Amino acid sequence: MRELFSLAPFFWKYRLRLAAGFGFVILSNYFNVLSPQVTGFVIDHVQRSLSLQGYQSPVIYAGYDRSVKLFIEWIRQWGSGVSTVVALCGAVILLLALLRGVFLFMMRQTLIVMSRYIEYEQKNQIFSHYQLLDTAFYREQRTGDLMNRITEDVSRVRMFTGPAVMYMANLVSVISLSLYFMFRRNVELTIYVLLPLPILAIAIYYINNLIHRRSERIQETLSDLTTHAQETYSGIRVVKAFAQEQALSGFFRQIAGRYKREVLGLVKVESLYFPSISLLIGLSTLLTIMIGGLYYIEGSHSITLSTIVEFVMYINMLTFPVSAIGLTASMVQRAAASQQRINEFLLAQPAVTDATDAGSPSIKGGITFDRVSFTYADTGIKALLDISFTISPGEKVAIVGRTGSGKSTLVQLLLRQFDASSGCVLVDDIPLEQISLRSLRSQIGYVPQDVFLFSDTVRANIAFGSDIIDLEKITTAARLSCIEDEIHQLSSGFDTMVGERGVMLSGGQKQRITLARALLRNPSILLLDDCLSAVDARTEQQITEGLQNYLKNKTAIIVTHRIFSLLEFDKVLVLEEGRLVESGAPAALLEAGGYYANMYKRQQQEQAGM
Ligand code: ATP
Ligand code: MG
Repeated sequence: MRELFSLAPFFWKYRLRLAAGFGFVILSNYFNVLSPQVTGFVIDHVQRSLSLQGYQSPVIYAGYDRSVKLFIEWIRQWGSGVSTVVALCGAVILLLALLRGVFLFMMRQTLIVMSRYIEYEQKNQIFSHYQLLDTAFYREQRTGDLMNRITEDVSRVRMFTGPAVMYMANLVSVISLSLYFMFRRNVELTIYVLLPLPILAIAIYYINNLIHRRSERIQETLSDLTTHAQETYSGIRVVKAFAQEQALSGFFRQIAGRYKREVLGLVKVESLYFPSISLLIGLSTLLTIMIGGLYYIEGSHSITLSTIVEFVMYINMLTFPVSAIGLTASMVQRAAASQQRINEFLLAQPAVTDATDAGSPSIKGGITFDRVSFTYADTGIKALLDISFTISPGEKVAIVGRTGSGKSTLVQLLLRQFDASSGCVLVDDIPLEQISLRSLRSQIGYVPQDVFLFSDTVRANIAFGSDIIDLEKITTAARLSCIEDEIHQLSSGFDTMVGERGVMLSGGQKQRITLARALLRNPSILLLDDCLSAVDARTEQQITEGLQNYLKNKTAIIVTHRIFSLLEFDKVLVLEEGRLVESGAPAALLEAGGYYANMYKRQQQEQAGM
């Protein structure tokens, strides 16, 4: 339960609403408990006027609320005719119900609305915290879990801040108000009414535990079910290509079957819950009528018919709030568990942060790696070992090397997707930590190896991350990436929706749109991580040709498995198993006859063969 304390700031922020809500709860219940008293009075009055047999005149209207006593005095001035009194009392009971309804409405309008505000803030809090966390965090988390925190868990917490708080306030106020008046009316009868209460509490506790355990299991199964469905949807191309529809449907049916069984089990327990509570509350009613009746016949304990009627009404009033105890308790339990999960996330801190004195210098494009090593913490893989090199502003550099040699890791270090394990990365001779992340990343254009498109229009995908919305500039970026013509051929040109992750486009088209996105920002440093791998050689040549002019005053690092013949590189870096094994001008490397020279020769032969 301690976890729920972290909601205190939210409650404090909405304290006025909360206080007003509590006030409305008390008012609605106050008007509720007055109606048994007015009913009691009218029964008594009728009985007296008709001088019914066996009637014993009541001692006093002891125990009634002051307002009811005032009302009784007022009604006496009107006369004591049965019909007048009954009509007036009827009107008053109607009025009480109306008042109660108004305050119930206000109660929901304050407490439930407050919970929706808190939900809104909590969602934003979690989402903006997600944005702060670095890639290391995301590698350890499953997307499904992240989604669940912000949807499922937040709504469970809301069930606490809204309904559960409301039910608890209602329970406390209705119990204290009605017990207060019951005790004032007749102590002994009240005690009899309360007798079944301990059994009721134990029963609620047990059944509630059962319900809780079962709903936890249901939740788990549901999570399996959604994960399975989600994976099937997003991998539907693979599923179909391997003709696995039936197998997956079978698997789905199996989980769905488990879910059904669990839910049916819960329904059974829940069907037990309300009847058993009704039974126990019925027992209270029975005791009231029986014992009250006996006392009435004996003429002892100053019990009148009206007392019995009033008590039965009070018990009815208690039925719903008491039966909601179990529900409320499980809401609180679930909310605590959810809040705990949320807190775990909120406590996670990004490893990559700005130094306190980080500035936002304008980057010219000089890059230095000084004895940089990097180890992936989760797998222990040493991806980079003791790498040192310098790149002057405006240089074009190719990084080549076998798959898994650490090229992407190197590029990502420059973006500070992670920080070097040892050594130092500098841009314009400033250590990366001294440049604010925002400033650094906004001046670098990066095309990742695995392209990602948002399910939005082509135009929005290209404009993503820059303030430029000018179609002309977007078109120019697309032209540079040699994708403009193909975009015009799409159904709505630049306004075509690309589908989830860009499923409507080919691999090469996606890559070129991602390239256009990086070019549009007009960055000082351009990082291209094998971004033309899915593009044919001719288009690639066209792109590199166009880029030559664009890159004039920019630093470019291009990771590639194919050496662009048309782009003059100033420098080539060759990586092998995380080490920098060759570096220098292409001509010098060709002469040296290492990895680069081999690669170059092979490509020359391939081209000649074509
Ligand atoms: P490719 O040419 O196939 O893109 P690469 O040169 O870009 O390869 P990297 O992606 O930098 O290679 O990977 C270098 C090493 O680090 C590999 O051994 C890889 O298994 C490991 N590695 C890469 N990404 C991660 C990660 N997120 N977590 C743990 N290890 C990783
Ligand atoms: Mg790579």
